[in-house]
Amino acid sequence: MKRAVILGLLVAAGSVAMVAAEQPAANAPKVIEVEKVKDNLFVLRGAGGGGNTAVFVMANGVAVVDAKNPGWGQPILSKIKELTPKPVTLLINTHTHGDHVSGNVEFPASVDVVVQENTKTNMEKMPIFKEHNNNGMAKRTFKDKMTIGTGADQIDLYYFGRGHTNGDAWIVFPTHRIVHSGDIFAGKSVPLIDGNNGGSMVEIPATLRKAHSTLSKSVDQIINGHMPAQTTMADLNEFVQFNEELVAYGRAGLKAGKTPEQLAAEWKLPEKYSGYSSQVSALMGGLPGRFQLLQKEIQ
Ligand SMILES: [Zn+2]
Repeated sequence: MKRAVILGLLVAAGSVAMVAAEQPAANAPKVIEVEKVKDNLFVLRGAGGGGNTAVFVMANGVAVVDAKNPGWGQPILSKIKELTPKPVTLLINTHTHGDHVSGNVEFPASVDVVVQENTKTNMEKMPIFKEHNNNGMAKRTFKDKMTIGTGADQIDLYYFGRGHTNGDAWIVFPTHRIVHSGDIFAGKSVPLIDGNNGGSMVEIPATLRKAHSTLSKSVDQIINGHMPAQTTMADLNEFVQFNEELVAYGRAGLKAGKTPEQLAAEWKLPEKYSGYSSQVSALMGGLPGRFQLLQKEIQ
């Protein structure tokens, strides 16, 4: 009952995806919707499925970014068969969360799996991979940057620093000037910061700033972790400012002796952020959780 009410509020606020992502309804039908972004680039979404999946059809194979919640790997693979006869050869995960990596275990063992190195460390703590003979575990990692493929098939992976976790990869398709940002820019809302997986309130503004300054010349469109439609680099710039102001608000309040709970109760969504959700996901301690983490980090 309580969960239904919270979900209802979040649906109204337009951010249900983020919650449904981490709380999939058991045995709900797994229906995948395909958005064709370019002739060979698709976004796969599905209610209860978790994070947005990108499918990039290359000359001799298919690259997939993120594999959704448990049980969604096979539906993703089946949907890709409707799009192309080419085999899936590469799977990239933006970060460690279960609504982005769990479907990995259903992919063929031959598929190359690539993640940022801290994400591999985080994935190794997840029971789902142990339960599946380590199938779907990362095979290759990168630290700050990696390029896979050339020409029209090129994919650039970047790590700009800690934020949502300590292993958030930004996946760029340079020919299309599109990036998959994962959950470090999940949507237009207060960021989810997972302190248990190395996420950082202190560092997220600078990480986002670095992503924007590095990518703004080569990228136009963003596939966000959980948005129903793509955003732009202008949206990322606005999100940088939003995060800078949120952290500055927290720092000033803590310095003035306020508690994280007071700061959360007194926070109001600034009017200039139209299109932002004023509802904060209850995951990871909600808004008080963000300020508790900030307090812990700056002590
Ligand atoms: Zn996440």
